[in-house]
Amino acid sequence: MPVLDEEAFRTEVRGWLAASLAGDFAPLVGSGGPGREHEFVPERMAWERLLGESGWIGLGWPEADGGRGLPWGHEVIFYEEYARAGAPARVGHIGEQLLGPTLLMFGTAEQRARFLPGILAGTELWCQGYSEPGAGSDLAAVSTRARLEAGEWHLDGQKVWTSLAQFADWCFVLARTDPAAERHRGLSYLLVPVRQPGVEVRPIVQLTGTSEFNEVFFDDARAAAADIVGAPGDGWRVAMGTLAVERGVSTLGQQLGFQREFEAVLATARATGAIDDPDIGARIVEAWAGLEVMRYTALATLGRSAGDAGTEPNVNKLIWAQWHQRLGELAVDVSGAAATLAGPGYELDNAQRLFLYTRADTIYGGSNEIQRNVIAERGLGLPREPR
Ligand SMILES: Cc1cc2nc3c(=O)[nH]c(=O)nc-3n(C[C@H](O)[C@H](O)[C@H](O)COP(=O)(O)OP(=O)(O)OC[C@H]3O[C@@H](n4cnc5c(N)ncnc54)[C@H](O)[C@@H]3O)c2cc1C
Repeated sequence: MPVLDEEAFRTEVRGWLAASLAGDFAPLVGSGGPGREHEFVPERMAWERLLGESGWIGLGWPEADGGRGLPWGHEVIFYEEYARAGAPARVGHIGEQLLGPTLLMFGTAEQRARFLPGILAGTELWCQGYSEPGAGSDLAAVSTRARLEAGEWHLDGQKVWTSLAQFADWCFVLARTDPAAERHRGLSYLLVPVRQPGVEVRPIVQLTGTSEFNEVFFDDARAAAADIVGAPGDGWRVAMGTLAVERGVSTLGQQLGFQREFEAVLATARATGAIDDPDIGARIVEAWAGLEVMRYTALATLGRSAGDAGTEPNVNKLIWAQWHQRLGELAVDVSGAAATLAGPGYELDNAQRLFLYTRADTIYGGSNEIQRNVIAERGLGLPREPR
C-alpha cells in the first residue's frame, strides 16, 4: 500500500481515535495509567484487540513480518495523537515495544511466525522477567535456573517487579542454563507461558495502593525446547538487545503525556492561588523549560538507531526521570494541604498518584546511579567503579 504523507496520516490517526474512543470505549479515555492499572482491564484488553484488528500495532515492523513498514516519523505521529486523544494506557506495549523488536533482531523465522501475530493482533500479552530479589542493577546475578529435560525447559526460581504479569499470557525470562559458566555466559532467554501450574503470579501492592508489578515464582515451570531466543548461553546478548530498544519511538508520546500532566499542575496552581508564591512560580518556569528541552532532545535523538546512540539514552533517562519526579513534587505542593489526605478507601487524586508513582522513575529502566555509572565509564572514560 502506498504510504500516506505525514499530514494525511495524522488526520487518519486522529479521525480513527475520535471515532473509536466513543460508545463502549468512551469511558476508557484517560484510564489505566500509573496507579490506575486496575481500571477497565477487560475493556482495555478489548481495546488492544481493536488496535490490532485496525492495523495500529507494529506500525514500523517489516511488512514481511506482518507489520506496516511505516517510517519512524509516522510512528511518532501515532504515539503523539494517541497521547493527545487520552487513549487508554496500553496493556500490550511490552510485547510490541520489547519482545517484538527482540524477535525481529534475534528470533528464528519459526519464532517470528509463532509469536509476532499474537502481538500484532493484541491477543497475546507479554511481561518482562529479568529482575530478581538478588539481581536488579546487577542483572548478570540472575539465579532462576532452567534445564533442558525430555524436550522441555524446566524452570525454578523467582522474578520480582514483573510489570503487568497478572494480565500476561507469556513472559520472556532471563534464566541461568549453565551454572558452571561465568556470570554473563551461563544465561539464556526463554519464552515461558504464564498460565500453567508451575507459575504463580503474586501482585505487589505499591505506594499508589494498586499493583503494576508482581512477584513471579517458577516451580518446575515448563517452556518448549524451541522457545529459546538465541543459543543457550547467549541470553545476555539478547537481553541487552531488548534493553537497547526500550522506549524507542514512544518517547514522543511520553513527552505529550508529560505536557498534559504539566498543564494540569499549572491549572491547579492557578485554582489554588499557589501560582502567586514566587518559589512555586520559579519551579513552574523551570518545569516548562525542562519540558521544552526534553521535547527537542527526543526529536533530535529519534532518527538515530539504538546502536548509534552511545550514552544518549542514559543521559535522556537520567534527565526525564529527575524532571518527572520534580513535577510530581510540584503537583502536590501546588495542591496545598489537601494533597496530604487520601479519599475514603485510599482513593488518590491525579496529583497524589503522580507524586507517589514518580518515586519509581529514578529506579526502573536502570536507576539514576546506574545511568551515571554508564555515562561515566562508557561515555567519559572515567575510571571503572570497583567491582
Ligand atoms: C515501576 C517499576 C517497574 C518495573 N518493571 C519491571 C519489569 O517489568 N521487569 C523486570 O524485570 N524488572 C522490572 N523492574 C525492576 C527494575 O528494573 C529494578 O528495580 C532496577 O533494575 C533496580 O534494581 P533493584 O530494584 O534490584 O535495586 P538494586 O539494584 O538492589 O539497587 C538498590 C540501590 O543501590 C543502587 N546501586 C546498585 N548498584 C549500584 C552501583 N553499581 N553503583 C551505585 N549504586 C548502585 C541503585 O541505584 C539503588 O539506589 C521495575 C521496577 C519498577 C520500579
